[in-house]
Amino acid sequence: SPAPVSNFLRTIIDNDLAQGRYAGKRWAGKPGPASVQQQGGIDTARIRTRFPPEPNGYLHIGHAKSICLNFGLARDYLGACHLRFDDTNPEKEEDEYVKAIIDMVKWLGFDWNYGAESNCYFASDYFGYMYQFAQALVRAGHAYVDEQTAEQMRSMRGTLTEKGKDSPWRNRPAGESLALLEEMRLGKHPDGSLALRAKIDMASPNINMRDPVLYRIRHVAHHRTGTDWCIYPMYAWAHPVEDALEGITHSICTLEFEDQRPFYDWILNHLAELGQLAQPLPRQHEFARLNLSYVVTSKRKLLQLVREGRVTGWDDPRLPTLAGLRRRGYTPEAIRLFCERLGVSKADSRIDYGLLEQALRDDLDPKATRAVAVIDPLKLVITNYPQGRSELCHAPRNPHDPDAGMREFPLSRELWIERDDFREDPPKKYFRLFPGNTVRLKYGYIIRCTGCVKDEQGNVTEVQAEYLPDTKSGTPGSDSVKVKGNITWVSAAHAIPAEIRMYDRLFCDPHPDAGDKDFLAALNPDSCQVVQGWLEPGTQAVPGATWQFERLGYFVADREESTADQPVINRAITLRDSWAQ
Ligand code: ATP
Ligand code: MG
Ligand code: MG
Repeated sequence: SPAPVSNFLRTIIDNDLAQGRYAGKRWAGKPGPASVQQQGGIDTARIRTRFPPEPNGYLHIGHAKSICLNFGLARDYLGACHLRFDDTNPEKEEDEYVKAIIDMVKWLGFDWNYGAESNCYFASDYFGYMYQFAQALVRAGHAYVDEQTAEQMRSMRGTLTEKGKDSPWRNRPAGESLALLEEMRLGKHPDGSLALRAKIDMASPNINMRDPVLYRIRHVAHHRTGTDWCIYPMYAWAHPVEDALEGITHSICTLEFEDQRPFYDWILNHLAELGQLAQPLPRQHEFARLNLSYVVTSKRKLLQLVREGRVTGWDDPRLPTLAGLRRRGYTPEAIRLFCERLGVSKADSRIDYGLLEQALRDDLDPKATRAVAVIDPLKLVITNYPQGRSELCHAPRNPHDPDAGMREFPLSRELWIERDDFREDPPKKYFRLFPGNTVRLKYGYIIRCTGCVKDEQGNVTEVQAEYLPDTKSGTPGSDSVKVKGNITWVSAAHAIPAEIRMYDRLFCDPHPDAGDKDFLAALNPDSCQVVQGWLEPGTQAVPGATWQFERLGYFVADREESTADQPVINRAITLRDSWAQ
């Protein structure tokens, strides 16, 4: 693969490595505070990154950007990337999501196992350390237990233009806070009655530094720790601790967290001073998140689409979830290519959905097996071709890859062609079938259209033509007649019937959830049209198989519902972008 394109994060890492920032750093091979890390025998100069999903939903294309970035940096710098479940918020987290996340990171082609190191972690495993660290902060006078309600704390916090006010509990003795913290942990107080807060500066211009809450009381069972805990750490407190325990060097997050960086550093510096954390400490760096047009990626909105039955599930082929994209026919290579093309920057931007689609075309074009399918079938009868006879035609499996060889399929008297390939009254510059015109049956003979049959309503039910016997593709006479049209077909007696799901974008609006828009109003009513079509004989519709159906686009056999007897085929993407303005 080509050398990675540099970006601001690579520049930062290059500088850190040039300064020897990680040389001799010890990694115990397991997460832990200074006391554990310093027992570690491995001296490394490695960088460590992490991908830290919250297991409260399925991964989407935005997560892919973060996965490719973090695992990609670890790969290119011979470091390690941790998969860490950020499961500190018990209400919304479930094992189902943990499994789905593991599945998708692997599918994208990344691995958190590096030799003897298996770097898959759960933040909930650190609840004990977090508690220990909180006690250390309280003892040192850096945190206190507040008895104000959440509402009172909010009103005392001030605004961007107005300083906050100190809590009346801010200066309570450390011993008192320590005892109350222990009572909180033991479940002696109801939800919301007490909170542990960092003691920083209520007058700070950065609101995040105005004594942020570290622990709140939540009498809720957790999907992994059950009822062991009834206090849970806030994200901004948990995250730097998780990073430090795991020896992360570069903690890469999206721009919204830029204002949290001073608190991130405050926590780590204080815990290091107190001897709890080993040096060098992780550093946070922010990059612009992926905002993709024509989709929603908020987990709340995705969940709503699933719950309300607007889609068939988290893996609906129209969703921008990785499970949905996979079912749609996206390959890991296409998604990685898309992420590579996105690059990394610090400036927010919106990316056109067409860029994702183009990455899929670019990935599949050189490697997809070609086949013919007819999705809107109309019968064509070659009236001068003997009944009961058939002969084989040949076509390349892949025109980009001569080694892939040829495929063969029969031609016979009755064929299925696309309804759109015949017009009784052709418009100007229409070169396909109309009475009197000649076209080539792709890989077969040249035919002359002689007429059509219609039903009582005037709908064309059958097209009739005569073939010119010496014009078969690949024979010396094939060039004897010049034609402008070349149409695809399958032999009616031999073709495989299939359900074909013609997927399109889920939303018609490029920015379905911009501002306070109702994103449901922008749902595309034509995002899935199911048709009964015909596949080239010999097509093996094993789940997950992909093809380029000539002239139509890229298709995949649905990984959930397709069987050899009853193929279910999804259209992944058309050959050309029909949405481009
Ligand atoms: P949501 O806000 O929809 O709940 P989230 O960002 O909270 O999503 P997490 O599971 O916490 O979801 O995300 C895990 C990681 O993926 C985070 O490090 C986050 O920065 C990254 N990530 C999430 N969405 C995007 C995006 N659109 N672009 C880039 N990175 C993203
Ligand atoms: Mg979230
Ligand atoms: Mg999050």
